[in-house]
Amino acid sequence: MEYLLTTNSLTKQYGRHKAVNAVNIHIRQGDIYGLIGRNGAGKTTILKMISGLAAPTEGDFSLFGKTGKDAYEYMSRIGTLIEAPGIYPNMSAAENLKLKCLAVGVRKKGTIEELLKTVGLENVEKKKVKKFSLGMKQRLGIALALVGDPDLVILDEPINGLDPQGIAEVRETLQKLNKEKNITFIISSHILEELSKMATNYGIIHNGILLQEMTREELLAKCSERIELKTDDTRKACTVLEDMGIEKYKVVDADTIQIFERLNDGGDITMRLAENGVKTMGITVKNEALEDYYLNLTGGIVNV
Ligand code: ATP
Repeated sequence: MEYLLTTNSLTKQYGRHKAVNAVNIHIRQGDIYGLIGRNGAGKTTILKMISGLAAPTEGDFSLFGKTGKDAYEYMSRIGTLIEAPGIYPNMSAAENLKLKCLAVGVRKKGTIEELLKTVGLENVEKKKVKKFSLGMKQRLGIALALVGDPDLVILDEPINGLDPQGIAEVRETLQKLNKEKNITFIISSHILEELSKMATNYGIIHNGILLQEMTREELLAKCSERIELKTDDTRKACTVLEDMGIEKYKVVDADTIQIFERLNDGGDITMRLAENGVKTMGITVKNEALEDYYLNLTGGIVNV
């Protein structure tokens, strides 16, 4: 499979501490990849390494199919918004963009106007950035990351501290760019619920280790309402379920079946299983919210 970006045992060690520990992520063109993890999990360090702002201590990454030194040649196709995005508060959004265009050698006429329009800041051309709301500043940060028409845009916590309105604005901007310009995004966040409304793929990082990668569909399936059934004979239990007309089920391990329909029919299911000689060891309805799923995976309370 063709990936736009992969990391290969990417590691960053500070002293004895591995901030990022042998991480392998896989990002395809057109993905909105959500890198999710608590504060200090290692997200920024990963993003810095793949955008050339920090050197790995071990491992490497491939960008557009190129690895090592060759990958660094493609850095100009990446736009970033990582930590303090270099915004000058006494200047307007247009002036900030002009500076960035000059710095990276973009001279095309109309670029600034187009970028302002893309992020919905076309009507605040004269206003100084210090008078912007946080959401407006984040959108300017995104516009700055878009200078030079990058194929891949890396945004570190672009929704951090935003109110619901600000989050919705950033989400709409990213989805539009993703759809209309086929820009691939990597967005980090410590709040899965917020990422879940925009990301197509996820990487869950904890203590520097990538715990899981999954698609949006896989994540939603894990969090959707279901009956969790434990029996002493999974194979026979499946036959009984099918006889009952139940089709939406999945065998998850040697004794567990997840059923995604007829959630109120637990009693009937147990009875039919018993009639067919299958012993029910446990039957519960589960409805794990996204955040619960993430907390279970990483263990404990999110420290914000
Ligand atoms: P946050 O959302 O708080 O930025 P994060 O997931 O982005 O969290 P990182 O900033 O990547 O996490 O930090 C990962 C770990 O590496 C933390 O324990 C941090 O203290 C440590 N770390 C980061 N940069 C350095 C550095 N320059 N020197 C030493 N340790 C560092």
